[in-house]
Amino acid sequence: KAKDSERGSYAFYDSILTEAAARKLYIANELRTAIDENQLEVHYQPVYSLNDQRIIGCEALVRWQHPLHGMMMPADFITIAEDAGLISTIDNWVMYHACHQAQQWLQQGLALSFMSVNISSRLFDRGDFLTSSLQKALLDSGLPSHYLELEITESSIMQDPSQSTALLHELRNTGVRLAIDDFGTGYSSLSRLKHLPVDKFKIDRTFVQNLPHDAGDLAIIRAIAYLSDSFDLVIQAEGVETREQADFLQQYPGILLQGYLYGKPMPAADFATLLADSPAP
Ligand code: C2E
Ligand code: MG
Ligand code: MG
Ligand code: MG
Repeated sequence: KAKDSERGSYAFYDSILTEAAARKLYIANELRTAIDENQLEVHYQPVYSLNDQRIIGCEALVRWQHPLHGMMMPADFITIAEDAGLISTIDNWVMYHACHQAQQWLQQGLALSFMSVNISSRLFDRGDFLTSSLQKALLDSGLPSHYLELEITESSIMQDPSQSTALLHELRNTGVRLAIDDFGTGYSSLSRLKHLPVDKFKIDRTFVQNLPHDAGDLAIIRAIAYLSDSFDLVIQAEGVETREQADFLQQYPGILLQGYLYGKPMPAADFATLLADSPAP
């Protein structure tokens, strides 16, 4: 039955919209019911500390189990959710869920130092809303705020640097940590960076991918490492897939590594097992 109505709406929209626009509209409509019908899930990707030689944290990444289309990845729906005004509902749901999960793991005695969640640039338009849902997630879950890390992309901060800086200060006053995601791709000026109240740079995967062979990427990583050291920030490399990349990156003291080498994003139960097996501090 669902199939018939799906085909029906395609046929209707085909005549007035392009196929791509029709698909977006279809996904946006499906997404509206996804939350109420419990189709969203959070997967967790491990973050490895070279200093501690173990997994110390994770990044929460949303997945959508669609009843007809199977598992949908963020690339299939995040931009659509942003354009349809649905992203704050999704991000708040993920944040709420991830806080409860982290608190549960801590209570089970698992050695987790942080839980990261992604915050869309669109939430920056409603900063008051973000702060209040953040406080609700922390309060309801009982998770001490310093365990929660919010990831904001460099490009979203740079859309409106002064407004973002004010909001980042407000968020950080709640005690959470802040990370700049996809760092190196957002054209931030050094004078702006100086004023940002952040704790971590996440080096974008595109700079890690060709290590240690690409001379340009080597220079960029060196520059980011130098900056983070000067500003007293943690660096975390994204997309570490090979032993060779990890060996190269270990020259930077305190660096954290995230990538398929240490684990893909996985369901909560699998991550809990991995964390339990990671040697205790
Ligand atoms: P991101 O925040 O930069 O997350 C990292 C992405 O890189 C994830 O893709 C992860 O699976 C992938 N990745 C991690 N390690 C490797 C690796 O070694 N190799 C490769 N090839 N990829 C790796 P994912 O889960 O598909 O998410 C894509 C993007 O969607 C995220 O990029 C983030 O921008 C966005 N996203 C995911 N979940 C959420 C969410 O809850 N809210 C919002 N607003 N955005 C989200
Ligand atoms: Mg991220
Ligand atoms: Mg990233
Ligand atoms: Mg990225």
